[in-house]
Amino acid sequence: MGAIAAEIAVDPGRVESDLWALAALVEADLPGWTRTALGPVDREARELVLRWMADAGLETTVDGAGNIVGRLRGAGATGRSLMVGSHTDTVVGGGRFDGIVGVVGAIEAVRALREAGRELEHDLVVVDFFSEEPNEFGLSCLGSRAMVGELTAEHLGLLDDRGRTLADALAEIGIDASALLGAHVDFSGVDAFLELHIEQGPYLEQQGSQIGLVESITGVSRFRALFTGRADHAGTAPMGLRHDAGCAAAGTVLAVERIAGEGVQTRGTSGQVTFTPAAVNVVTARADFRGEFRGPEGEWLRQAQEQLTAAAQDEGRQRGVGVEVDWLPLQEPAPMSGPVLSALAGVVDGLGYSSSRLFSGAEHDAAVIARKVPSGMIFVPSHDGRSHCPEEWTDLVDVTAGVTTLTHALLALDQQ
Ligand SMILES: [Zn+2]
Repeated sequence: MGAIAAEIAVDPGRVESDLWALAALVEADLPGWTRTALGPVDREARELVLRWMADAGLETTVDGAGNIVGRLRGAGATGRSLMVGSHTDTVVGGGRFDGIVGVVGAIEAVRALREAGRELEHDLVVVDFFSEEPNEFGLSCLGSRAMVGELTAEHLGLLDDRGRTLADALAEIGIDASALLGAHVDFSGVDAFLELHIEQGPYLEQQGSQIGLVESITGVSRFRALFTGRADHAGTAPMGLRHDAGCAAAGTVLAVERIAGEGVQTRGTSGQVTFTPAAVNVVTARADFRGEFRGPEGEWLRQAQEQLTAAAQDEGRQRGVGVEVDWLPLQEPAPMSGPVLSALAGVVDGLGYSSSRLFSGAEHDAAVIARKVPSGMIFVPSHDGRSHCPEEWTDLVDVTAGVTTLTHALLALDQQ
């Protein structure tokens, strides 16, 4: 570790105990380390974060979108700020590091700066973004989207499988949907945003790098396709006379794989397909299919949407099955800021960490905030690239290197 790290001490023991305290808050009836944003436990986690922020000396608020926000006043009294944060919610069956590394890391950065007596000129705003992972309504980055003013009444009317609206689901956990639409922030005074996160892929480990500097974050395009056929007897209905919604959906699953396989750094995933009636001896009457494409180019995502819609309609036509494909608003790929990336690279070199630049195939709040503020992401390695599973692991020494990088990056950006 280089000389500049010596002045400011991130406490690895504190980072570790905070990580385990948050990770331990799980929904007991679900697999892995599950803490879904609309579930009962995430609120507890966010209340814990709120207390930690207050203990670290931050002025705390919960905004209309459920984001936990802490502010450390800067010496400059310029009204300008730096923002840093990540999320505490997880996917179902997720791991112990996704999201919380960046929340714990940001709070630890505040503690380390204060303990070293280093006052920033900028205000430092720490955010635990609400509901980053895709929820039952197919929406991700709810808190950050609300902050940048991208959510509409239409989003609040989205339905889950139980026929509940997003507004109702939010009300159940104490978030008033009308306040959520009013939660947008004036970002004109924010000079930079940083997010520390686990890589969730194998690249840094393969490169032997301690730190990853993200050049851009993937775009995401999600859809819901509904195939409506006809239930028939599995034994008596001849193959040529069936209207099998399941087969039309299955053909479309393969189209997702084919379309994504033809692109560069592009991905396509058929995450959820439900057949109704789910019976071994009945031809499928209805298939509800949710999937997504990702890639570094918005233009490719738009082409993939057209190709997939056409493929689904073709699969339906061949079988006399009705097809409806709805695309959620496309999340454009997000390039990270060149100047922020340069500042991060300087900090990493000064600290003596090995680093690589990379593309993030995972979406992040930073991709949303980057639409308003010059942004950067710091990645730390994931063992075997595993993530969104209970095996997700990052060595504590790597988490500490990430937190140290984040802390020094705040100082570097403060001086720009
Ligand atoms: Zn995450």
